[in-house]
Amino acid sequence: ASISHRSASRRLPTLAQKKALTPAAIEQRITELLSQMTLEEKAGQLTQYSGRELTGPASTRKTDLLNSIRGGQVGSMLNVKGVQDTRAIQAEALKSRLHIPLLFGLDVIHGYQTVFPVPLAEAASWDMAAIRQSAHVAAREAAAAGIHWTFAPMVDVGRDPRWGRVMEGAGEDTYLGSQIARARVLGFQGERLGGTDAVMACAKHFAAYGAAIAGRDYNAVDLSPQQLWEVYLPPFKAAVDAGAATFMNSFNTLNGVPATGSKYLQRDILKGQWQYPGFVVSDWGSIREMVSWGYASDISEASRHAITAGNDMDMENDAYFDALPKLVQQGKVDVALVDDAVRRILRKKFELGLFDDPYKFSDAKREKKVFSDPQHRVAARDVARKSMVLLKNERNALPLAAQGKIALIGPLAKSKRDLAGGWTVIADTTQIVSAFEGISQRAGKKAQLLYAKGCDATGDSGAGFAQAVETAKQADVIVLCLGETWDMSGEAKSRADISLPGVQEELFLALKATGKPIVAVLFAGRPMIFNAIADQADAILYAWFPGSEGGRALSDVLFGDYNPAGKLPSTFPRLMGQIPISYQQYSTGRPVVDPKNIRYRSAYIDAPNTPRYAFGHGLSYTTFKYSDLKVSQPRMTVAETVQVSCTLTNTGSRAGEEVVQLYLRDKVASVVRPSKSLRTSAKSASSPAKARR
Ligand code: BGC
Repeated sequence: ASISHRSASRRLPTLAQKKALTPAAIEQRITELLSQMTLEEKAGQLTQYSGRELTGPASTRKTDLLNSIRGGQVGSMLNVKGVQDTRAIQAEALKSRLHIPLLFGLDVIHGYQTVFPVPLAEAASWDMAAIRQSAHVAAREAAAAGIHWTFAPMVDVGRDPRWGRVMEGAGEDTYLGSQIARARVLGFQGERLGGTDAVMACAKHFAAYGAAIAGRDYNAVDLSPQQLWEVYLPPFKAAVDAGAATFMNSFNTLNGVPATGSKYLQRDILKGQWQYPGFVVSDWGSIREMVSWGYASDISEASRHAITAGNDMDMENDAYFDALPKLVQQGKVDVALVDDAVRRILRKKFELGLFDDPYKFSDAKREKKVFSDPQHRVAARDVARKSMVLLKNERNALPLAAQGKIALIGPLAKSKRDLAGGWTVIADTTQIVSAFEGISQRAGKKAQLLYAKGCDATGDSGAGFAQAVETAKQADVIVLCLGETWDMSGEAKSRADISLPGVQEELFLALKATGKPIVAVLFAGRPMIFNAIADQADAILYAWFPGSEGGRALSDVLFGDYNPAGKLPSTFPRLMGQIPISYQQYSTGRPVVDPKNIRYRSAYIDAPNTPRYAFGHGLSYTTFKYSDLKVSQPRMTVAETVQVSCTLTNTGSRAGEEVVQLYLRDKVASVVRPSKSLRTSAKSASSPAKARR
């Protein structure tokens, strides 16, 4: 490709200049560039468009986009992927007057070519090294395909399982969520921007998007300062501290102000108090949405709100490019605000090294080599089995015996697409290993595998029950694969009823009548309600949406080749009416246990307060004993550290891992504290009868 800027401008570095620029040199270069830019070119740098059409047939949008790119009117593209396409589009951008390279962004949420478990699943591993590795592999594959920037991690705390996007986060807890935010940012980016196997991270959605009223996506958020600061903001701060290059704001309003137009969130907290040096991109069309909210009268006013509030880049709003130059000329927006936003974006382009080599991330040979790296599948299988949570295991139903007859039943038993979950980049999901494939590979010749679908995941027909029952009768054990379909959780996938969909629970009851032991395997992107199964199944394994290696990871756990150690990152309610629910309850002035207050307690008259499965719950094939708990000092003041230790003994007969969780409570405080708060956790592996401190 002819990269015209090499000869066109003396001020831009040549390909020979490979050494990373110092921060001061970068600022100097940006100052020089800014001095050459027209107001229109500045607004262009702040503009991002989706480029799906660019690789399709001729259309007006395609022509317009290409002209804008050549005209220096676009700073970034999303949804262009693959070496061939990113290179071709980058070449167009380099024809622009100042030859400023484009940034290519994409939602690489849980893998690129290799699909990893959905983020909520990975959170159940409580394993920061595995989570970091997952993000690293995703970044490595994406970078090889020309992507510079992923719109991940989503660090929104999610305490309402009706909200479909709990699937993309780390669950309900602030502490765990903060640890995972850090692991993911470091996994995507590496220690420093500019590495070849890395992409920029984007902490999203700033802020409190997960607190949408009634769990309905995009809904308003009404939150006390205490909840905002204690529950929702810390994972974002953790992302800042880990060096997250970018932030994305959110669709919701926060206490009446759209987050995209919130000066409080973006200028005061993020860029002020936290001194954030990166840039903020809007969410898709969220500047424009200020008009729909009734917060701005038109796009121009919405743009003024956004730039004033600290929103740097416009994602698919068609707002900034037209509005900002006029607003500056009319004296309604200070050009310094525009310059600051441009500076933040150019800084990342320099840090990534794009001015040295605008194609550095895309190379067809490397793309092929990276995609076929067998280690990526190894990492996917590792984190998938670490993510699975053994909710129940009675009468030694699990692990499965290597011999005998297994009836594999259920609408998700042979599904590949569902196991991938939402937000997958690759179109071809045939590479996903289904439960059926994983189990039949492992079962080999010794065990005999029988199969019946039983019913569809979402339909209401029980026509397949009889055949499923016949199949079950011939077997020693039933492995029943049920769950949500992949498209029932994710963006805009809020559910008013989080029960197992369709007639799947009826299928379970029909099979239960055979008297055969039932191991239920549940696939989902969120906590679900499945009371009959919880009460009557012999064993329950929550497998989430486990990704490419899902079927193999599943069989590792089912046959005991891997001893499960996952712990729930979210509370599982018994009933819809308990939602929103989290382990962080308040004691109330009416404790349930107070014998004097039997009638007027803070309780439901028709259900317990307790959840079906608590946050942090998860069984193992071995047992652990906690003893010898010691606290280094009985009292502590604000800045002090205490040491807490205990002895953990593996009292069972298998090697296993345990996540040790430490919760604190400030018993009497100037504001009422939740009954407990997770403060630290450690994953410990041990062999039988071995004690670990
Ligand atoms: C989502 C973001 C995503 C963006 C770009 C929006 O609808 O809320 O999370 O990054 O689209 O695809």
